[in-house]
This record gives sequence, C-alpha cells and structure tokens, in this order.
Amino acid sequence: MALKIYNTLTRKKEEFIPLHKGEVGIYVCGPTVYSGTHLGHAKSYISFDVVVRYLRWLDYKVKYVQNITDAGHLLDSGEDRILKGAKREKLDPIELTEKYTRTYFEDMDALGILRPDISPRATGHIPEQIKLIEILIEKGYAYETNGTVYFDITKFPEYGKLSHRKVEEQVAGVRVEVRTEKKHPADFALWILAPKEHIMKWDSPWGVGYPGWHLECSAMSMKYLGETLDIHGGGIDNIFPHHECEIAQSKAATGKQFVRYWMHNNMVLVDGVKMSKSLGNFITIKEILKKYSPEQVRFFILTTHYRSPIDFSDKAIQGAGEGMRKIHNTFERINETLKQVQGDNKGTQNDKRRVQGNNEGVEDNPASEIDKIIEVHKKKFVEAMNDDFNTPLAIGALFDFSRELNKYLDNDVVGARHSMSLQSTLNIYEEFGGKILGILPFSKKAEIEGTQFIELLIEVRERLRADKQWKLADEIRSKLQDLGIYIEDKSGKTTWRRN
Ligand SMILES: [Zn+2]
Repeated sequence: MALKIYNTLTRKKEEFIPLHKGEVGIYVCGPTVYSGTHLGHAKSYISFDVVVRYLRWLDYKVKYVQNITDAGHLLDSGEDRILKGAKREKLDPIELTEKYTRTYFEDMDALGILRPDISPRATGHIPEQIKLIEILIEKGYAYETNGTVYFDITKFPEYGKLSHRKVEEQVAGVRVEVRTEKKHPADFALWILAPKEHIMKWDSPWGVGYPGWHLECSAMSMKYLGETLDIHGGGIDNIFPHHECEIAQSKAATGKQFVRYWMHNNMVLVDGVKMSKSLGNFITIKEILKKYSPEQVRFFILTTHYRSPIDFSDKAIQGAGEGMRKIHNTFERINETLKQVQGDNKGTQNDKRRVQGNNEGVEDNPASEIDKIIEVHKKKFVEAMNDDFNTPLAIGALFDFSRELNKYLDNDVVGARHSMSLQSTLNIYEEFGGKILGILPFSKKAEIEGTQFIELLIEVRERLRADKQWKLADEIRSKLQDLGIYIEDKSGKTTWRRN
C-alpha cells in the first residue's frame, strides 16, 4: 500500500505523489516568537516531526522548511504580538524574538523533534516579500491605499476553496475600522503602513511599513522549495485566513498550483476544555518536561491521530507512560536475552537451550516463528503509517509485536541460534519506535550512561550481598527504587527494570 495523505483541500485521502520523484519539499508554519512554547506547539511539531521522519524512512530526500515569525503577526485586536511582548518584558522587539526563538529550539530539541533543514525568519526576508507584493500589484491582484497594500480577493475567485467558506462568511471578524480603506471588507493586508511609534519597520515603494503575516509564508516557502510545494502543514486554526491567503498570494503571483497536499493538525484540550491563557489552563513545554520524559510526551501525543484533538490530563499522560513502558520492557528483555544467548554461544559454540523443555527431539523452529512475527507486525506498522500517518494504529502494532514476543520469551525456549532473529526484533524497535516515532530512548546518550551506572551499582550490591552486608545492599535497592529502578533477585540472578 502506497502512502496516502488526507488533503484538506479535497477533503480526501490521496495517494502521495511528489512533484519530483524521490524528493519532498515540505513547509510547516512555525511559531510567532513573542512568548514561550506550550503543549499546542508540542502536538503540532511532534506530528510533523513524525511525518518528516517517516518520509525519510521511506527514502525520500526531504527538505523541511519551517519559518520563524518575528514580525507582522497581529492579534485580532490589531495589536502587534511582538510589540506587545516587548512591552510586557521591557525588551527591544529583537531581544524578545531572539529570546523566544532560542527557547523554542531548546524546547523542541528537548522533545526530540528534529530541527527543520531551514528556519527562515520573516525579518530576514523583507526584500523577497516586497518583490512578491510588486508582482501582485503589477498583475492587478493588489492595490495600495494610504501606504498600505491589500490583496483584492474579488480578483481571485478561488479564495475560500481550502476552508470551504463563502466570501460573506469571511467578512465576519474583520475589524470595522480598517474596512473603510479596503475595496472589499475581506481584502487582507500585504504591507501595512507603520505608525511613527512602531519600531519594526522597513522602507518600501509604498512608504515605511511592515509586511502582513500571511505574506512571509508565501515568500519564504517559494524561495526555498520552489513555486509548487509538495506538502504544506499547520494547525487547523491556520486554514482560515492564513493558508487561504497564502494560496491567493502565491497562485496569483505564479499562476501555478501552490501546494499539492495540505495537512492540518488538530488542537490540544485540557480536561476537555480548549487550552488558553485566559482560562489559566495553559501548559508550557518546560512545565510538562519537569514531570514527564520527552518520550512519554511524544508517546501521549502520538496515541491520538494528528487530525484529532487530544485531551490532556495527568491521568491520560500517565496511562500513556504505562503503555510506553510495556513496549520498552519488552525491548530491554530482548536485549537481555540476546546478551545471554550470545554468552551461551560463546561458551559452547552450540545451540544450547537455557531450559530444556519436554519437546526434546521435536524439531520446532522458534527462529522462523520470530521472523514471522516480525514480518506480520512490520507490515501492520507500515500500513498504519501509510494510512495518513496513523500513529495510534502504528503504536498498536508495536504493542501487539511486544505481546507476541513476550509469549516466546515466557516459554523460555530461546537459544543462541535465535540471535539473528532477536537482533532483527531489536532493529524493528530501533527503526519504528526510535527512528520514526521517537518514543523509545534507545539512542539517548543520557539513558545509556544511566544504564551503565545502574549496572555498576547492582554489581556493587551483589558484592555486598556476597559479603553478607545486607543492610547496605538493601539500602542501594531501596534508593534505586525511589528513582524508579526496580531490582529483582531470582534464582541467583539479579535483573532490573525502569518503572
Ligand atoms: Zn504560515
């Protein structure tokens, strides 16, 4: 089954065919850097991170562009977000945008989100934006009034096609005071005349001003990805007016299709209510990462499809954590088993079973059974991801995979000749759980270092026990338990697991 993507424009799942064979250009609307990041950013950028990781896993050469909005993004009240933030924090606008650009990347890095290939800033692309406006004026799609330039939506009949809105509906919400200078109330600003006190402003053929927010995405996406993008993503709240305006600007200027596949992710609710600053139910990424690991946050978000809203509560994310640990435990168990059987192999060079079952003489072949489990679940995982990046189903496939493998390990008939198969199961975890979903901390240096220390402590504890220093040995055990590390002594062997 080929990859299918739900296209907001057609409201259908369509087979994904990029413009250039083997290559994908993807643009995702980035943050407006005037305040800190929150769970909404986590959902959006984790979702697109997995899209990009999966496309790369499918061997596409992906160019991922995500902008940084550091100018021109106004609130519904008409107030400039950046200037509002700068006043609030008593900083220069550029200090503010620099501060929140840095914290944005810090938080995204902490969540294991791979950085975009290009992160263009709006303020770094003023000439490109002015050029685009000039083209639009020249082609008759835009007009200037008192130093402000508007896009004339009556000249672009497709306006409203993405959001499936009629022009009358678009007028709702447009500020009354700026309607007078527009030809049509739904016309939107490409360039805005800057009042004297406005700090972030640039010279232009229409006077000193600053670009409208929608314009930067058209100018920068086409600069780095060409006039037609394979995928354009964003939150559902971007569909209208932002993406509708991007289509109008871009297609009017080039005469070409702007985007082949429009993808939109849904929002985060907190205990069933939309997350918002005014309701005080706003959760920042820094806060969430104090309580939960990045993998747990990713796991929680990916257990819901990107097009569905996700309802956050401590109970829900804790439940996700339990699910994640089940998969992780199986992975660790296989690692352990592999180490053991490889050890056995070294000792005897034979296929020695650790426990003799009652099936001596019966030629069972768990190696090929394990291979079968791998094949079945690999297919399930890929089919789920090919179905519009259905991560909940893909995670379900990893659950089933782990359950089936546990059955084999419980039967304890695994020996050295299964090393290859066991190694293949580990590869599945690393590829799917690690590389694609980023929910298993296999490659995390800190985790590996932590593991070495835990094993060292366990070794010390074993020596203490051999020396009959029970009190100290128990103390190590209980202190580790406080840190979520559980030790089990069984038939002369000590094993451990993370809670
Ligand atoms: Zn955008």
